[in-house]
Amino acid sequence: MENTIISIFTNETELSKDVKSMLTKKLINRGYTVMSEYSCDASLIICIGGDGAFLETIHKCDFPDTPIVGINTGHLGFFQEVLPEDFDKFIVDYENNDYTLQKLSTVMCTVTTSEGTVNRHTGLNEITITGRKSYSIHFDISIGGKPIEKFSGDGILVATSAGSTAYNYSLGGSIVDPRLELLQVTPLAPMNTTAYRSFTSSILLPDDLTLGVIPESSENRIYITNDGIETGYSNVKEIEVSASDKHVNLIRFNDYDFWNKVKDKFL
Ligand code: NAP
Repeated sequence: MENTIISIFTNETELSKDVKSMLTKKLINRGYTVMSEYSCDASLIICIGGDGAFLETIHKCDFPDTPIVGINTGHLGFFQEVLPEDFDKFIVDYENNDYTLQKLSTVMCTVTTSEGTVNRHTGLNEITITGRKSYSIHFDISIGGKPIEKFSGDGILVATSAGSTAYNYSLGGSIVDPRLELLQVTPLAPMNTTAYRSFTSSILLPDDLTLGVIPESSENRIYITNDGIETGYSNVKEIEVSASDKHVNLIRFNDYDFWNKVKDKFL
């Protein structure tokens, strides 16, 4: 298809690389231009692998507006819509505009240190805030600027709706339909004793509220992990977590149904 430039990202497995060369040949035969290098500057991004490969691609491209489709090469594949053997059907549907774009929300955090450094991190699945391994962490949590709790435990995770089926679910958080725009705050091993009082279940926030996290002054090392990418900080003064204005436009076939996918993958 003239003027349609396609960029194909893949993970490092032999199967994914083989699928990439097979798809590249098919696309070129149909008249598409396929970038020889990884490039985010395209009309369509194809990502071959599992959800991990999908997350890596959207981070490499800094949450592109470009429509993106995932080809699943044998992984769990929550984001990965198409099996390699269904690729011909995908191309026909793509050319006929017979698909929908699922607009996925993201979560961001701003970390301010006592030296005044300000850093931002964005996640499609989630952002976790934890301390040093094997140590509990203590921080004051506010919602919309109002103090809510003094948290003690391993940390907290703030999931998007799309990320609710990932780490959030393993922690006992709820599965959320991605059409709902909200943030889910799920505790990691919260302490709830006479010494410490923390929420023991997830709480759900509307996406216009900001969660404030102020570590106790004795906390000298804090880790922020966005979609599995960990960054360590010292002397953290404050962390703010909120919905981000970045979105991911995921291509779905017209027969895609979130709850069928949940049933297929989890039950
Ligand atoms: P990984 O530890 O190699 O894989 C984590 C697993 O989570 C993979 O099976 C992956 O699917 C699946 N996954 C990713 N996003 C998902 C989603 N939105 N819904 C359902 N399942 C999903 O790490 P990775 O591949 O780099 O992925 C990073 C993600 O791992 C993080 O964002 C976090 O959510 C998740 N994680 C989970 C746990 C846990 O459950 N205990 C612990 C740490 C991190 P594929 O097989 O298709 O790749």
